Amino acid sequence: YNNLMQTKFIFVTGGVMSGLGKGVVSSSICKLLQLSDQKVSCVKIDPYLNYDAGTMNPIAHGEVFVTDDGGECDMDIGNYERFLNQDIPKSHNITTAQIYSSVIESERKGEYLGACVQIIPHVTDEIKNRIKKIAADEELEILVVECGGTVGDIESLPFLEALRQIRVEEGSENVMFVHVTLAPSLDVVGEQKTKPTQHSVQELRRIGIQPDLLCVRCTSPLQDKTRNKISMFTNVTNNDVFSCHDVDSIFQVPEVLYDQGLVDVIFKKFNKMGYVNASQNWDVWNKIVNSLHNEGESINIAMVGKYVTLADSYVSVNHALKHAAASIGKKITIDWIDSENINGNVDTLSKYNGILVPGGFGTRGSEGIIKTANFAREKNIPYLGICFGFQLAAVSFARNVCNHTDANSTEIESETNNPIIDLLPEQDGVTDMGGSLRLGANEIDVKPDTIANRIYGQTKISKRHRHRYEFNTKYLDEFAQKGMIFSGESDNGRRMEILEIPDHKFFVGVQFHPEFNSRPGYPENVFKAFTTAANQN
Ligand code: GLN
Repeated sequence: YNNLMQTKFIFVTGGVMSGLGKGVVSSSICKLLQLSDQKVSCVKIDPYLNYDAGTMNPIAHGEVFVTDDGGECDMDIGNYERFLNQDIPKSHNITTAQIYSSVIESERKGEYLGACVQIIPHVTDEIKNRIKKIAADEELEILVVECGGTVGDIESLPFLEALRQIRVEEGSENVMFVHVTLAPSLDVVGEQKTKPTQHSVQELRRIGIQPDLLCVRCTSPLQDKTRNKISMFTNVTNNDVFSCHDVDSIFQVPEVLYDQGLVDVIFKKFNKMGYVNASQNWDVWNKIVNSLHNEGESINIAMVGKYVTLADSYVSVNHALKHAAASIGKKITIDWIDSENINGNVDTLSKYNGILVPGGFGTRGSEGIIKTANFAREKNIPYLGICFGFQLAAVSFARNVCNHTDANSTEIESETNNPIIDLLPEQDGVTDMGGSLRLGANEIDVKPDTIANRIYGQTKISKRHRHRYEFNTKYLDEFAQKGMIFSGESDNGRRMEILEIPDHKFFVGVQFHPEFNSRPGYPENVFKAFTTAANQN
């Protein structure tokens, strides 16, 4: 790729164990450079064999983040978008399956005719090409690439090898390796241990990568003697060993790193001259970060869904609620409630200021969601239904207001006489589960003089989708007569996108996923409206 501007690359690897927050470190580094007026972006490498995150269970792997261009991505992409306030395309989430599929496809086309196709060079070339293409196409000054997994994993080897080669090709003044490790202490006042870091850096060096910079995760700030010891054993200068100690919010991590001189170290390493006065950018960012942990009064939200045992499975919804509450000077408290346990004790929901039903799939827990939506409607409690929460709110209305007691979604009961929610026409006959839903951003028409119109302040919006089923327009008139109207639609009125009950404190459902568009300091409109209504309840 003809990269005229010579992008600088920062490769972030992880050691010792997973879950150290490589994603947050990568986003924070990228944020700092963005605050220094650099044109930046982030890439996430996921060495697993799934083609994308779309087929993975959110309880095990966290939420599937949907990009504007319809990628079903690792949730780190969501972190990048929220930190950078910048849309990230799906090409920025690279997996082993994508790399191998395209290598194998090229082999079948005869593109390597005569050659024995191998991990080095064919697989590593494909990896390098993708990374360099992103840098060149987007004309980036700095690209941060986070390699998922832990050094020493079999799966990540080809990726680390490719990154190593990029350093040789682009020159070491243009490439930097950041290794994220852990300095555990066995009790609160205990000594910070360096051995895990020593071993993990050794493992990296064994495959030819000497890290330039270490970000050491620890509960309290890295002590001088720990830093000295790590520096000596890992061959990384003292100044380049950074403490990544626990803070209240992930959005404080950029400042923690900045205070230790991270930006200077990077600029020096990259020979980037000139003084960057970023104080204005910092003012904006600090204001946003501070607003996120205001100690205002709490708005209590019940989040009733299927994947509630892992907080990460609805991470974007959690963030979106926080952004919205912060914008009205309040704090949000979320109770996650398993919809399977709601039967019989739906009354417990009356103590909340608002009820939110996020996305979901399948039969388990669906009856609980239908009851929840009905309860919110009857008791006049602010309700926001997202995707599955939109669909089952419509089912609950059909059952309880329109007297179609057997109403359902055909996803749950394929033979129902009242298929309120039915398969999207183009989904008929789709057998592949991966990448086959209606995905990504689509334009939506918002009807004038509706609640939705007041919420969005315009008649055209673009929102991200991830669904296979939709509202059956056969029931439109009947619903309208009984008091539920559809105020947003797409594809010239073929698909219903927003439902509302005008005669209610706040009862809104959206077929799309507004949570993916919410950013710190820039809350998504429907979240803001819902949170405001809950606050008044
Ligand atoms: N299961 C529903 C569908 O496929 C809803 C999907 C979702 O909530 N993301 O249409």
